[in-house]
Amino acid sequence: MAAIDIEGITRQFGQTEVLKRIDLAIGDGEFMTLVGPSGCGKSTLLRIVAGLEQQTGGAVRIDGQPVDGLRPRDRDLAMVFQSYALYPHLTVAENIAVPLRMRRLASHQRWPLIGPLMPGTRRQTRDIAAQVMATAAMLGIEHLLSRRPGQLSGGQRQRVALGRAMVRKPRAFLMDEPLSNLDAKLRVHMRTEIAQLHRRLGTTFLYVTHDQAEAMTMSDRIAVMMDGAILQVDSPDRVYDDPACIRVAEFIGSPR
Ligand code: ADP
Ligand code: MG
Repeated sequence: MAAIDIEGITRQFGQTEVLKRIDLAIGDGEFMTLVGPSGCGKSTLLRIVAGLEQQTGGAVRIDGQPVDGLRPRDRDLAMVFQSYALYPHLTVAENIAVPLRMRRLASHQRWPLIGPLMPGTRRQTRDIAAQVMATAAMLGIEHLLSRRPGQLSGGQRQRVALGRAMVRKPRAFLMDEPLSNLDAKLRVHMRTEIAQLHRRLGTTFLYVTHDQAEAMTMSDRIAVMMDGAILQVDSPDRVYDDPACIRVAEFIGSPR
């Protein structure tokens, strides 16, 4: 069974059909990259999977269960965006802990939570500290836990954002161009880090980028998207060696 099953998803904005019956199945533990030029509909599709946006037609299933109507936070997916969206007034440790504290909030209290966090029992506080520490250690940012986002480099901030996504141990990660705000050298480095993280966690990833090289180096499979349609889903090698059509070939950069 697929971890994430995208079935016949369509999305219209006014008269424009931005997603044209998208089918895509992402296997359990798979690193799937959705790659395509800017404006082809990648973010819209990811936001629909996350529950941040409604499709016009079709369904999304997670572990076989339809998730229509489930709120984003009830889908057990972690989103990482290109803008880090860290809380500037909280420390790194507090930023990473936010999803753990959110879980304990009563359901009538709404996201986003920016004010003071609910105090917990001493035991809960200890558990949270331990989870934050383990997550930070995995990302090599243990020494930064008491800093605030303003005192971090771009790469460090992106690691904190990853930590905040990881700490809840989500069913899957959805990442939308998480590296595009970083400079070229750091971007290449973070590719390797994310690929390693995927191997260590063994969690399902649905990763969005317009950068072919990024897609080719990190993914188990890539889905090449253009104009609201997926043209090919294959391993990076196969997409490179045997593109489904000239548009894929041109985009991936191996004209034949
Ligand atoms: P990508 O992430 O691949 O760059 P998007 O999913 O952001 O593409 O956008 C796909 C298309 O949908 C674009 O043409 C964009 O202008 C359009 N679009 C996205 N969101 C909206 C919206 N809320 N209203 C109208 N058009 C939108
Ligand atoms: Mg986008």
